[in-house]
Amino acid sequence: MDCVFCRIVAGEIPSDILYQDDEIVAFRDINPQAPVHVLVIPTEHIASLSDVTGEQSGLLGRMAAVANRLAKSEGIAEKGYRIAVNCGDQGGQLVPHLHIHLLGGRQLSGRLG
Ligand code: 5GP
Ligand code: ZN
Repeated sequence: MDCVFCRIVAGEIPSDILYQDDEIVAFRDINPQAPVHVLVIPTEHIASLSDVTGEQSGLLGRMAAVANRLAKSEGIAEKGYRIAVNCGDQGGQLVPHLHIHLLGGRQLSGRLG
C-alpha cells in the first residue's frame, strides 16, 4: 500500500521513532510545528478518526496514553501540551492514516482553526 505512515511502520521510510509496540508507533514529525511535535499512530492502517469503530475505541485510549507518556519523557507534561487529530479534508488531514499530534514546548495559540 502506498501509505507513508504504513511505510514508516514497515521501516521502509526512516523516522525518529520514540515508541513502538505491536499496536502503536510514535515518531517525530518531519516538519515540526512546535519544539516537541510527535505523531502517534496505530500500526494497522486506519484511514481516519472517522473510521474508528466501537471495537477500536480502546486503541484510541492507548494511543492517548502513549502520547501522555511521551509528553512526560519529552519534558512538556508540566507546562502543558496539545493533542490534536485532524480528520478529513476540511479538518486539515493530509496523511490518510490515523495519527494523534502531540505538540508542546512553546505557548500554543488559543485558537484551533
Ligand atoms: P495531518 O495534516 O495529516 O494531520 O498531519 C500529517 C503530518 O505528517 C504533518 O505534520 C507532516 O509534517 C507529517 N509527515 C508527513 N510525511 C512525513 C514523513 O515522511 N515522516 C514524518 N516523520 N512525518 C511526516
Ligand atoms: Zn497507512
